[in-house]
Amino acid sequence: MLYINGAWRDSATKLNVLNPATGKVLTAVATGGKAETQEAIASAKKAFATWGKTTGNERSNYLSKAVQLMKERSKELAETITLENGKPLPDATREVAGAIGFFEWYAEEAKRIYGDTLPASDPDKQLMVIREPVGVCAAITPWNFPLSMITRKIAPALAAGCTVVLKPADVTPLSAIKVFECFHEAGLPAGVANLVIGPAEEIGSEMTRNPDVRKITFTGSTRVGKKLMRDSADTVKKISMELGGHAPYVVFEDAEIDAAVNGVLVSKFINAGQTCISTNRIYVAESIANEFSEKLAAKVSALVVGNGLEEGVNVGPLINQAALEKVQHQVEDAVKQGGKVLTGGKIFTLEKESGYFFEPTVIHYANDRMQITTEETFGPVAPIYTFQTEEEVVERANHAEYGLAAYCYTKDLGRGLRMMRALEFGIVGINDPAPAVVQAPFGGVKESGTGKEGGKYGLEEYLEEKYVSIYMK
Ligand code: ADP
Repeated sequence: MLYINGAWRDSATKLNVLNPATGKVLTAVATGGKAETQEAIASAKKAFATWGKTTGNERSNYLSKAVQLMKERSKELAETITLENGKPLPDATREVAGAIGFFEWYAEEAKRIYGDTLPASDPDKQLMVIREPVGVCAAITPWNFPLSMITRKIAPALAAGCTVVLKPADVTPLSAIKVFECFHEAGLPAGVANLVIGPAEEIGSEMTRNPDVRKITFTGSTRVGKKLMRDSADTVKKISMELGGHAPYVVFEDAEIDAAVNGVLVSKFINAGQTCISTNRIYVAESIANEFSEKLAAKVSALVVGNGLEEGVNVGPLINQAALEKVQHQVEDAVKQGGKVLTGGKIFTLEKESGYFFEPTVIHYANDRMQITTEETFGPVAPIYTFQTEEEVVERANHAEYGLAAYCYTKDLGRGLRMMRALEFGIVGINDPAPAVVQAPFGGVKESGTGKEGGKYGLEEYLEEKYVSIYMK
């Protein structure tokens, strides 16, 4: 289904949505292309003329109504996420709570968009800075958090007074449809939020080339992000890019080992490792590496793999066959390069399902020759490297083109602070494997992107400062 100018629309062209736990078709949804994207952008532009002038209180009321509806439907939303993405239902339920959290937060922030007055250099002048919405925003979202990736973009955009055209990932469009149903029933004025599902490149190139779109906000791969940045250059759009990551996870000899082991279960195995801030390289001080890897392997081998709708499942399927093959390839390469598989290591076949499952895997004796050391894995594979000194591990941790998230375990306060400063990443978790919260800025440096989502920082991305100088005589 497409949602353009406040109305649902069917189309003759359809896209099949699969359940990754079974490989079977769940349903087919209507799609649109260039023409529909143009229409959606035109309706967002028209709506901006009024939405952009509403008061913060008015916008807050709309967002709060959407919150109410999402809360009432949270069970249905969570089930939809599990069906199209595969993650276990408790994780999907947490995603729904987080997704609603963005709307709650920005419903409040809509009322708190302040300007500044500046001291003038001339006594007869009054200088002010006012903050205005950017305009029409195009949002492109991935499949790994099919709901919360949408709300973390749309909530601040609407709060700021922008209007939006969303293209969700084509493998997970159902969560997008459900959340747009909430917007529709919340009475959001026509054109304020529009949904176009369809061929990525066709929709994406209209979004980037259309001069009426003033901002592109994207979460996805670095490859596609770079293309969108290049394509947006001709019309000089404002951009926010949340791209790939390759997170180091450093465990010093003074760390609380059990806490560090449990942290990997969260940071690596939630969402079957399909998270941009997921741990990719676990660096463990040589003196504790064997103890750490044995403890981790024992915990990982106890994780239950299966269909996310079933109770007790910890790790669901990967999103598709290509993802499964990529992970398998990385593991085979790691073994060839001298890695030792402590647990897992293979494609996992469930008796009743034919989905895309991979065994939760721990690989010891990882080294820098392995593909897994530089390529994003997006799967449930934990490679363990060893190190000797703090200086060495900082250098190795930073040696990545990415700079999204990094983790560090130590009980030494001074060392924790030194690591905080030395790690070249947008997000640093010290003794904390789950740092992402709605009020904090989420985003990377280097090729992990530009711009932040969350808190007051996320709102700034949808506002422009206008400087006004008034001569009073
Ligand atoms: P992933 O590897 O996580 O699937 P992608 O960057 O391929 O990451 O996908 C993230 C989002 O970008 C999805 O909504 C996808 O449909 C979209 N996308 C992929 N290719 C393009 C493109 N050429 N132009 C615009 N959007 C794209």
